[in-house]
Parts: sequence; C-alpha cells; structure tokens
Amino acid sequence: MLSKTNYIVWRECHKNAWLKVHKPDVYYANELSAFEQQIIETGNEVDLLARNLFPDGEYQKKFEKDGFMAITDILTRSTSSGQANLYEVKATNDIDKKTHFHDLAFQYNVLKRAGLNIASANLIHLNGEYVRKGELDLKQLFVIEDVTEKIKEMQEEVSAEMKLALDYITEEKEPVGPCDCIYRGRSSHCTTFAYSNPNIPKYGIHDLARIGASKAKLTELIDSNIFELDQIPTGTKLSEIQENQLRTYLQDRPIISRENIAEELETLVFPLYFLDYETFPAAIPRFDGFSPYNQIPFQYSLHVLDTPESEPTHVDFLYTGSDDPSQTFVESLQKNIGPVGSVIVWHKDFECGRNKELAIRVPDSQGFFEDVEKRIFDLEIIFKKQHYVHKDFKGSSSIKKVLPVLVPSLKYDELEIGEGGTAAERWNRLTTNPPSPEATDGQGNSQLTTEEKESIIKNLREYCKLDTYAMYAIWKALYSLIS
Ligand code: SF4
Repeated sequence: MLSKTNYIVWRECHKNAWLKVHKPDVYYANELSAFEQQIIETGNEVDLLARNLFPDGEYQKKFEKDGFMAITDILTRSTSSGQANLYEVKATNDIDKKTHFHDLAFQYNVLKRAGLNIASANLIHLNGEYVRKGELDLKQLFVIEDVTEKIKEMQEEVSAEMKLALDYITEEKEPVGPCDCIYRGRSSHCTTFAYSNPNIPKYGIHDLARIGASKAKLTELIDSNIFELDQIPTGTKLSEIQENQLRTYLQDRPIISRENIAEELETLVFPLYFLDYETFPAAIPRFDGFSPYNQIPFQYSLHVLDTPESEPTHVDFLYTGSDDPSQTFVESLQKNIGPVGSVIVWHKDFECGRNKELAIRVPDSQGFFEDVEKRIFDLEIIFKKQHYVHKDFKGSSSIKKVLPVLVPSLKYDELEIGEGGTAAERWNRLTTNPPSPEATDGQGNSQLTTEEKESIIKNLREYCKLDTYAMYAIWKALYSLIS
C-alpha cells in the first residue's frame, strides 16, 4: 500500500521511502526534534481550525484503491449532484509548489479510482497578510485556492509516478550503493546518510563550508574518489572561508587575527549588555496586531558587565501569561538596559527585527529601540569576518559551534532545553496547553501539573541565561587574547 506521505517522501528521495517502509529502525533512528514536533502540532492545530469553514464537511476520510491510500483533510459532498469537493489544508502562508500540488493530485487520483465524482480540488493555506484584530476572522485568515485545473493536468504524470513509487517501495531487495546526496553538502543530508554511505568520513569534503553550493567542485572531488580533507589536491579552487577551514584542519591550529579582533572589540562601550531573546512563531495569530507566523518575543536574558574585570550580573524576563507579552516585555527591557553601553547580541538581524516589531506594537518604545539599534554590536561578526577560524567551526559562525571551542566548559547538552526550537515549543505548551499525543485528560489536552509548569519555567530560564552567559564568556576569551 502506498500512502500519500510515502509518495511525497519517494518524490523527495526514493531510497528514503524504501527505508521508511522496510527499515523503520534506520529511518526513525533519530527522535523527532522539538522543532519537527512543533511543525506537526501546528499542522494539526491549523487543520482543526480550518474545519470551521466547512461545518458540514467530512474530515479525515480514508480511501484505498489499487494499492494506494489517501486520507483527506476536508471533503464536502452535494447531496443533489453527488459531487465532492476536496480540500487539503496547509499550515503555510503560501503554496509550496514542490510538494502541495503533488500531495493534492495524489489524493484526487485515489478518490477518482475509488469512484468519487470530484467537482473541485482546493488548497487551503494561511493568509500572511492577515492582521488579527479582535476575534479571529477565519475567512480572512485562510485562503482557499481552487486548483482543480492544475490538478487535472497533472494526473497523467502523477499516475505514472504513483505506479513507479509503489513498485519501488514494494521491492523486497534494498537499493544498493551510495545515495544521491553523496553529491550534496552535509546540510542536505538526511538522518539515514551515514547508513547508506558508511565509508564517507564524518568530517570530510562534505563538511567544507557551503560546498553544496559549488556542485561542480563537489562532483569533481567525488568522481576523483576524494572524500578526506587531506586528499584535496593543492591548487583546487576554494572560497576564502573554505581555504581557511581547510588550513586550520590540515595544520590543526586555529587562525587568529588579534589585530582585527582588537579593532572590533575596541568599539565597545561599557557597561556591556549581553542580550538574547526567545520567541514563538504562532501560525494562528494569537493576539491583536499579529499575522500568521509573526514571532512572539516571550523571554529575554541579559548579562551586564560594568568593567572588563568585573563579574557580570544577570537579569531576565519570562512571560507566563496567556495574553500578549509585548508591553510587559518592553517595559522590562527599558528598566534593565541603561542609557549608555553597547548591547551585544549574536546574529543581530534577529533581535533587531524583533525590536522593530515591538516598537510598532508598543509605540511609546520607539525612541528606546532606535537608541538600542545604534548601540547594538553583533559578536558573531568576529567569526563571520574570519578573524577567528577553528577547524571545529566547520565554516559556521553559529554560537553552538563557537562556544565549545572557545569555552569548552560551557555546555548546552547538559540542559533539559538545549536549543531555541525546544524553548519555543515548551513556552507554547506552558501558555496554551495544546493538544498533545501524550494527552492525559482523554480530551487531547495534556494539562500540565504545577510541578511540570515550574520545571518548564526553570529550564527556560536556565537555557536563555546560558545563551547570554555564553556570549559574555566568548567575549572574555577574545578579550584575553588581545589584552
Ligand atoms: S541522504 Fe539524501 S539521498 Fe540519501 S537517503 Fe537521505 S535524502 Fe536520500
């Protein structure tokens, strides 16, 4: 039986679809990340809400025919004409042309095979332009796109693909050889890459910074049977970042430009404010002024350093109410960030973007945020500009890669919440009690106990605190190099 999901997986990667069916232990070897879980939960939430557009609709109907199986999101049927309208709900702001049409075309095909007379095939997605004001306006929040003609046009192609996919996944013998991603950079590899390519080194040519964007170069190396970094022939044309990465790897020592680091750090004005935000991108706008997927800043951490030699002091903010945190968040920031001193962040586009949105939502704060904007210093710049390069950064300037090298004693993996996606998911759970697979009340809601809530709050605070302490510790490590 070929399900719609397996058909979509097959279209992305044949080998993976086969593994999913025949070797689920390999395919599902890694647990879903909090980010992936959140995507599933968001999809369910949006699907449930969209049903309100069709009170007489049928939901989650299963159809099977000729070895194919589809479960529809929403189906409406006319009792007089007997015709059906098919609706697929997507929790995105736009149609994803690579998957959504094929997803719907597969369902259309199965329903036709099952004898349904289909009048229309439609995609329902969120309207990114919608701004909430008062009660949710579902007619404004959702866009219904009638794509019947397109879906009909695709039928011949999709029908042929479905047959190929069914034959492929029902083949008992495992497809042999390396998988196609051998010609793509590490960031494109899925979790089963190591299984299909056991001889590829863990740190090799696939890990060169942005090598996936240089397809010709990667192909040339692979076709010459070169996988290890120390096998790359001298004279191979590499970008500056790749050259530096390779040099630090081969020489096994970092490249440090003290002069450039000093020049950057000397622009800082004390006290230093190390600042980091945590946010939640709600698909369904939760408060007035928010559009689908606008970020809700719900937490910040701030370490303040008065002089290079002093110890930093810490303050933080975490909103645990179920209404809009913006006003309280801004008031707290205004209280804790004084009028003088550099505001240090990592990857400033993110914090600056949120500040601009907060300044609109809390108009009194416009002057404050304009001032903060002028005082922002992006610590990531030291690593982006290649003033400090280490082989273990693998060409990245992410704080998660830099911290273990510069301050090995600080670790995220010892925390219960170790990355931003998990923090967002926990906050959402804390403030909304969304439907959960581990439902305990029989209604699909996992009501948190007081202890569970306290534990989430504690873990969120510890995680965000480490983010800003890590920035301080990295600054200190850099400062000690130049003083
Ligand atoms: S690494 Fe790429 S080609 Fe290999 S199984 Fe995963 S998605 Fe498919």
